Amino acid sequence: MAAQTFDVVVIGSGPGGYVAAIRAAQLGLKTAVVEREHVGGICLNWGCIPTKAMLRSAEVFHLMERAKDFGLKAEGIGYDLPAVVKRSRGVAGQLSGGVSHLLKKNKVTVVMGEATIPGKGKVSVKTDKGTEELSAKNIIVATGARARELPGLEADGDLVWTYKHALDPKRMPKKLLVIGSGAIGIEFASFFNTLGCDTTVVEVMDRVLPVEDAEISAFAKKQFVKQGMKIMEKSMVKQLDRGKGKVTAHIEAGGKVEKMEFDTVISAVGIVGNVEGLGLEELGVKVDRTHVVTDQFCRTGVEGVYAIGDIAGAPWLAHKASHEGVMVAELIAGSNNVHPVKPESIAGCTYCHPQVASVGYTEAKAKELGYDIRVGKFPFIGNGKAIALGEPEGMVKTIFDKKTGELLGAHMVGAEVTELIQGYVVGRQLETTEEDLMNTVFPHPTLSEMMHESVLDAYDRVIHM
Ligand SMILES: Cc1cc2nc3c(=O)[nH]c(=O)nc-3n(C[C@H](O)[C@H](O)[C@H](O)COP(=O)(O)OP(=O)(O)OC[C@H]3O[C@@H](n4cnc5c(N)ncnc54)[C@H](O)[C@@H]3O)c2cc1C
Repeated sequence: MAAQTFDVVVIGSGPGGYVAAIRAAQLGLKTAVVEREHVGGICLNWGCIPTKAMLRSAEVFHLMERAKDFGLKAEGIGYDLPAVVKRSRGVAGQLSGGVSHLLKKNKVTVVMGEATIPGKGKVSVKTDKGTEELSAKNIIVATGARARELPGLEADGDLVWTYKHALDPKRMPKKLLVIGSGAIGIEFASFFNTLGCDTTVVEVMDRVLPVEDAEISAFAKKQFVKQGMKIMEKSMVKQLDRGKGKVTAHIEAGGKVEKMEFDTVISAVGIVGNVEGLGLEELGVKVDRTHVVTDQFCRTGVEGVYAIGDIAGAPWLAHKASHEGVMVAELIAGSNNVHPVKPESIAGCTYCHPQVASVGYTEAKAKELGYDIRVGKFPFIGNGKAIALGEPEGMVKTIFDKKTGELLGAHMVGAEVTELIQGYVVGRQLETTEEDLMNTVFPHPTLSEMMHESVLDAYDRVIHM
């Protein structure tokens, strides 16, 4: 059978791949997407969405426990873990179905199977029914990433879990060790800790959420500890001895090794790109350890081959993947108005309790880059809406270039900050200055007023503090 011919074949249907495919089809390109597992990729099925569904259950549980604070009565509060998981899997399934519908609506051909690239302009797909050959003028590699496994700390699905096991737990851990305090590790720690599990987080760096501003990390840590979480920084899990229903972790800190027992371990030590078995290197695509090397337009250096999303390197975020997908589709369609993605304008959000969100440079990074800076801060306790919500713990921090007034970075910890951060993202995209932000009228009563106050504080004009 002759190979079907497409303008664009996308490998992988995560937020990078499916968005690239839809945009390419909208631009009149004949497009196919190949997926070996679930439409929607990790994000919809095993990442962003199901975690947020589970964290929502934990948040509601936490609020129910605090019912008295709000003048309410809630007795016999408990949870049903299988039902929590069922809801989360249902939300993931609903969204995956939604993406399939969108692909169909946009006339994107979906081929279910494992793709390889046997040569330039060719994609071979191993499907249930045999091998399907596709001919492609352009190939977008969007195969994503998977959990990093460290030697000796590998997941077994029983005592030691990756994020996939943690999203479909068969039992509630009683004593949990989370290795790694990046966004994924901290979100799971927050979920299980809130539901009453004795939770310890081990982080090799000197602070939790190590990519965040140091002050925000410290604030978040204080809250986690207050909630009963144990945090071990500058510590490393060297070995896991697996026994019957228990794991003994050898944890090194300050030159000493301590042995601690847990019934469950979640390994959240990063991710590695799905670069293997595609034929990339044979094609001449450069692979650096676990990611494809690209230029700022996601071009691999091999004509007609692009790489987007997690496989193209940090930041490993769904919105970065999608934005790159749109950019590459426009590039292929011949648009002369394509802008590269600026990593420092991509917000990072962590949906733990309290939430953490940031965009741009941390205070330390801005100083390291040689900026003379002005810093503003505003606490949640000074905001009427935060108090009315019963969420008085948190802060907003803004960093400006003293010389130009450019907003260099914004960092937040507290209720709903993952929703608030977009205000500063738009500000940065519009190259806003301190003056624009100070002259903006923020609605009252909202948490967003703290974003205004933080800017005012940077210029010694704060009102409510
Ligand atoms: C637990 C967890 C929570 C997360 N939370 C967030 C969050 O809150 N916000 C956020 O922005 N990001 C979050 N992320 C990260 C986010 O999921 C990724 O950045 C995003 O999914 C990357 O999108 P992608 O399109 O590059 O790849 P993926 O979503 O990984 O999709 C790649 C797809 O390619 C398919 N594939 C791979 N190889 C082949 C092949 N050879 N042939 C055919 N198909 C193939 C895979 O099956 C997969 O479906 C989270 C990740 C995890 C693990």
